Amino acid sequence: MPGLDHEHQASASSQGAPGRRLLEATTADLRTWLAERGHPAYRARQVFHWVFYRRAESFELMSDLPLVLRRQLEADWAVFSTRIAYHGKSPDGTDKLLLECRDGRRIECVLMVEDQRHTVCISTQVGCGMGCVFCASGLKGVERNLTADEILEQVLRLRNLLAPGDSVTHIVVMGMGESLANLDNLISALDRLCSTAPGLGLSQRRVTISTVGLPEKIRKLAALNRQYHLAVSLHAPTEELRNELVPVNEKIGLSAVLEAADFYFQTTGRQVTYEYVLLHGVNDRLQDAQALARRLQGRKAHVNLIPYNPVAGLPFERPRAEAIRRFVMVLRDRGVSVTVRKTKGRAIDAACGQLRRRLDEPGPPPLVPGPVSPMTLDVP
Ligand code: SAH
Repeated sequence: MPGLDHEHQASASSQGAPGRRLLEATTADLRTWLAERGHPAYRARQVFHWVFYRRAESFELMSDLPLVLRRQLEADWAVFSTRIAYHGKSPDGTDKLLLECRDGRRIECVLMVEDQRHTVCISTQVGCGMGCVFCASGLKGVERNLTADEILEQVLRLRNLLAPGDSVTHIVVMGMGESLANLDNLISALDRLCSTAPGLGLSQRRVTISTVGLPEKIRKLAALNRQYHLAVSLHAPTEELRNELVPVNEKIGLSAVLEAADFYFQTTGRQVTYEYVLLHGVNDRLQDAQALARRLQGRKAHVNLIPYNPVAGLPFERPRAEAIRRFVMVLRDRGVSVTVRKTKGRAIDAACGQLRRRLDEPGPPPLVPGPVSPMTLDVP
């Protein structure tokens, strides 16, 4: 397993869609390119406006640009650098995209629609280096960090699936990868999405960054003075059990995670959510709930319980309904705020790493979603 602070260099090779990556360019970059070809600077804003607001996925569609400019753009740039390798749709209003990056690596992202809420769940790495024993994403380790534009592109591609006039209302960074191991690229992408120059103008408060709990990175994020909502994947109330389930805990320790989370709350004023995957007979027992309540008592914190979504080949099971109820009651009785995460994407392997894993296996991809177990994704 790689070191905790090791930031994997995102290297996007030149295979796949040709051209410079438009979402990697700033308005200034594009202006320089335009000036070199004798085009006015304001065209740069027009181009980004088309991509961010008018959902153009090719230059061809940018009808208010001169034809010659559109041809030149097409020759040099690519609006998107990934291609959709698979699009899964679930009857409950969940879409999952498997995107193939230029280097052939595949990442997953999910769109969940519920009433007026349009939540996208995005990935930050190819694979994951944290090795949580119940999770499909990390089974083969981490391959690389995603670039900022690859992160941004997931949101835009999912947004483009929404009905005209609908927009993304929430982003959860809960797909593949350890978000804070790729902090710089993630923040660069999120900041852009939360800006209007040009971006999607989303409020930072509607973005949740989920982390295994890397204390130094949590402090670094706190110091950036943003309003992103932090979710820390705790999964166990004691060092011993957390070491078993979340192996990186051996080097970090539960207290350091909680202290960093407290620091995040003090610095940003934003209450931290603790995620807790309930695994039948492993961490869903009465004593686990009691120990968790003791750990969190006195903290202004919220617990999000995630009933486990079984992963083929791994020995964990979903918790029984009775165990979930008991867990909630114990926490509530002790004054700890708690919710149980909703299940979305039942038929499409929406859990992090599951779809990629299934499609990476030999044999043709299952175009009709198979009988896989439900997936859970947070909608804070
Ligand atoms: N690396 C980040 C993001 C991981 S995905 C983190 O650790 O938080 C978001 C959440 O889903 C994490 O809490 C993760 O532990 C959890 N998760 C992973 N696999 C799961 C599964 N099969 N069923 C339910 N939750 C799962």
